[in-house]
Amino acid sequence: MAAPMRICRRYLIQCLHCRKNLNFISSSRYFSTDQEQDSASTGTSFSYRTHLCGELTRSHVGQTVRLSGWLQYHRLSGAFIVLRDWQGLIQLLIPQHKVEETQNFPLESVLEVTGDVQLRPPGQENESMSTGDVEVAVKDIKVLNPCKTNLPFEVRTFNKVKENLRIKHRYLELRLPHLQHALRLRSQFVMALRNFLAHENEFVEVETPTLFRRTPGGAREFIVPTHSPGKFYSLPQSPQQFKQLLMVGGVDRYFQIARCYRDEGSKPDRQPEFTQVDLEMSFVSQEDVVLLVERLLERSWPGEKGEVKGPFPHMTYHQAMTKYGCDKPDLRLPWQVVEVTDLVRDSCPPVFQPYLETPGASIQALRVKDGVKHLSNKQLDALKQSVFEKVGDSVKLVPVKVRSDETWGSGVGQQLGDSVRSAIQDRLDVAAGDLLVFAAGQGFLPHTGLGLVRLQSADMLEAKGFTVREDGFHFLWVDTFPLFLPKEDGSPGLESAHHPFTAPHPEDVGLVYTAPEQVRSQHYDLVLNGSEIGGGSIRVHDSHLQRYILQTVLQENCSELEHLLEALDSGCPPHGGIALGLDRLMAIMLGTDSIRDVIAFPKVSEGHDPLSRAPAAVAEKDLDYYNIHLVNLPEDGGSGV
Ligand code: ASP
Repeated sequence: MAAPMRICRRYLIQCLHCRKNLNFISSSRYFSTDQEQDSASTGTSFSYRTHLCGELTRSHVGQTVRLSGWLQYHRLSGAFIVLRDWQGLIQLLIPQHKVEETQNFPLESVLEVTGDVQLRPPGQENESMSTGDVEVAVKDIKVLNPCKTNLPFEVRTFNKVKENLRIKHRYLELRLPHLQHALRLRSQFVMALRNFLAHENEFVEVETPTLFRRTPGGAREFIVPTHSPGKFYSLPQSPQQFKQLLMVGGVDRYFQIARCYRDEGSKPDRQPEFTQVDLEMSFVSQEDVVLLVERLLERSWPGEKGEVKGPFPHMTYHQAMTKYGCDKPDLRLPWQVVEVTDLVRDSCPPVFQPYLETPGASIQALRVKDGVKHLSNKQLDALKQSVFEKVGDSVKLVPVKVRSDETWGSGVGQQLGDSVRSAIQDRLDVAAGDLLVFAAGQGFLPHTGLGLVRLQSADMLEAKGFTVREDGFHFLWVDTFPLFLPKEDGSPGLESAHHPFTAPHPEDVGLVYTAPEQVRSQHYDLVLNGSEIGGGSIRVHDSHLQRYILQTVLQENCSELEHLLEALDSGCPPHGGIALGLDRLMAIMLGTDSIRDVIAFPKVSEGHDPLSRAPAAVAEKDLDYYNIHLVNLPEDGGSGV
């Protein structure tokens, strides 16, 4: 009989109280018997194979093994076949009398092989293969399933194939080692998260509905037609409302590996459907959520990616904007935006003067180390253009080249005079060959412009082979955001900086009613290497405050949220939570720019799936069922593919 599972009984709630015990949360076992543990760890099934290709080493010499896998390539006129499975490659030595038959096996055919593991002859070892000391002398070989000979591309890592073609035949691309590794690492990471949350810390994994209703505000949603005339479901942008309702329902600690949907097209770091590690807890403060997430990452971070150690640094939104010109600073890059208004004001060059006339205006500066030495004039123009595209002409950006003799290559230098120039050089620690970029304008606009220059010039230097950013994983909490911001589309009124359920900072509750634009929130973001990988907040649990925020501050239609308001009025505990973007987190962990490298079946531009050709047209007679009648259909039938 299986031995009972041993589950750790030390709860995080205790640890949150005494703090220092947190390191002692012990791990629980995944498997109830040694036998289960063994078969799960080898991953072999005995009908088709006794071993995996990639696991054979000198220690297996003399053993007879059965292997199954894909034919990677033929070598030396058929004398060898290289066989592949998810774990790696192994060389098969084909007996002379079988060469004629086997050399015609098409690449990527699925083979089953029996043979003896032997050492390769001296001098024929291959150090670049983990199995390169050995080979399997084949006794029996058969094709389980031949592969067609005209595959759209070869399954070889060095092949450069266009993304659409790769994703159209993703089942072929998935055979490549980097994708195998990404999917396996993701699965292990999720397993470790579940273990920490559910086994060790009393979280309950709950699946929340996918067929939901429209949510006011936020991103554009996907809608799902129904048979009821004029009635639609919406796919959830996140399980936000349900997780709050679970707290009202006394679940206390919830988590879900949740699929979320936002109709925002696809970019390298986002796509219309994505996965969150979604959490919510009752009776917690911001510090409790922060501490839990730090422990979660420390405990689940894969060993092969080094160690993650909390506490992570914190920065307020105001500090992040002031020093880095963005709310998700990349701390791998030490450069900071520095205010120079006080130094420049008395001898202000005319180009800046009009930009300093309004209250709250300033001149900021950024030093791009070695920027003059290594960036071309064309690249400087590109930097200026990007800033213009981001902040328009409300910021005056002036790059100044600091020449090898430390003179400044710009009229601005002459206008400032020697003493101001040297004060600026001292403040920014400027050296010959650096690029100095000034930006003048109102509020955070000059910071934002320089924040962009900071990142883009670092990218440009790195593309030329210079090391600008430090290595490693640089986590950062950004908090004390404003609760509301002016609407992004420029229309009058305010919108939530996070979402409308975020609670105001306890000291600012009164301001919600008098000066909402000044209210700070209990919203926190987790940033990793300059990307936001998580965001959450302590929630409003008072229905009157929530109704006021929705109705009066945000001017939303409360009738769409009556279910939530009613729940808040029915004994709702104080609660808060966070969601981590699993795809983005995995991409950064694996050092890839694209989340598509960590998703088995990703969407490409405009959210299209080249594999299944979704979204697809639906026949008119089928649409009748949904009472949908299409008008002004484009010529491709609306499929867009
Ligand atoms: N539901 C939020 C989001 O998707 C996260 C949270 O506030 O917990 O951004």
